[in-house]
Amino acid sequence: MKTPQNKRTLTTGTNAEHARLHNRRVILEAIRQNGRLTRADLTRLTSLTAQTISNIVTELHEEGVLLAHAAEKGGRGQPPVPLSLNPDGGYSIGFHIEQHRIIGVLLDLLGQTVAQVTLTVSYPTFEQALPLVLDAVKGFRQQRPAGRFLGVGIALPGPFSVEGMTAVGPTAMSGWDEPDIAERLQGETGLAVLIENDATAATMGERLYGIASELTNFVHLFIGSGLGAGLYLDNRLYSGHWHNAGEIGHMTVIPGGKACSCGNQGCLERYISIAALLEHLGLPAEHDLCAWDANDQALDANVEVWLAEAAPALRQAINILESVLDPQTILISGFLPEAILARLIARLEPLSRSVSSRADRRYPRIQMGAAGQDAVALGAAALMILAEISPDYEALLKPQ
Ligand SMILES: [Zn+2]
Repeated sequence: MKTPQNKRTLTTGTNAEHARLHNRRVILEAIRQNGRLTRADLTRLTSLTAQTISNIVTELHEEGVLLAHAAEKGGRGQPPVPLSLNPDGGYSIGFHIEQHRIIGVLLDLLGQTVAQVTLTVSYPTFEQALPLVLDAVKGFRQQRPAGRFLGVGIALPGPFSVEGMTAVGPTAMSGWDEPDIAERLQGETGLAVLIENDATAATMGERLYGIASELTNFVHLFIGSGLGAGLYLDNRLYSGHWHNAGEIGHMTVIPGGKACSCGNQGCLERYISIAALLEHLGLPAEHDLCAWDANDQALDANVEVWLAEAAPALRQAINILESVLDPQTILISGFLPEAILARLIARLEPLSRSVSSRADRRYPRIQMGAAGQDAVALGAAALMILAEISPDYEALLKPQ
């Protein structure tokens, strides 16, 4: 197999295939952004030749990915046929696996939710979650028995593979750090599998379905059991060399502050995380805040004490993020009850002065995310849709 001739053939083939996939994504992305386009529109909007567009459009139409609508009348020559994405041209599955629940979503090619499932769990290991995930995948596939499934995106709390941080402390989930998880899921489901950290997936959820659809530079802070940030910079996800960019939970914000399981003191997630709030309230780490009683006044007063300590730590982190990244805005979302999150955001004012203190801002410095608590699962599924339709996909994501 490894004769020079074969090697050369293989290289040429790979490049041609790469170009074909890229051109396909360029066409799909143009149609996704514009809704309906004719071949002539595509020629105008892309740098592709009419012949390339025609070949790819024919292929996509035959595959059922594109719908051809009734031709527009008028003008000379062949009437133009508007093309749109076929929502049923592909389905994507996303899972958000966290300490208390597994949320699964089935999206169509337009990113619309076809089905959703929430399973209650308690710190599931991979072996414990696997049958649940497989069962949910089976259920989703039964909903669209003839459907073309693009793959499964799985979002988990990070950081991944960091000595002394990944598998210790109240937010850690054990058994998820094995290198062959994606491979095993791929083998069991027969579908492509992508594993991503929860904050990054939530960032894509906000970018595609939430408040950030027009943003090209933003940070998304996701408050789960721990704390992570998704970095969307220059219109793409930034994941870092080891795929842990944005794992700011163990960033020191209060030197000499609270001891952390990572061995440092004053880590951000010791102040801002659900684990930190539960610890402050004297509740066990396994307690599920979804069962929150907003009318419990003693509890509420205690939350106020927590907010008074949490807000300065978060303000410090925001100052660092703004100074380093110069984002259009910082979104905050996660699993804190929405009323508490709103109070936390209100408490951040006045924010410290930074390069983001500008009069000509179009967006506030801090905003609450809008994709809701399903943002992570939606984003995980969206990753597989992006793999199908985004020309920037390879630059956008660096799969593990
Ligand atoms: Zn730490």
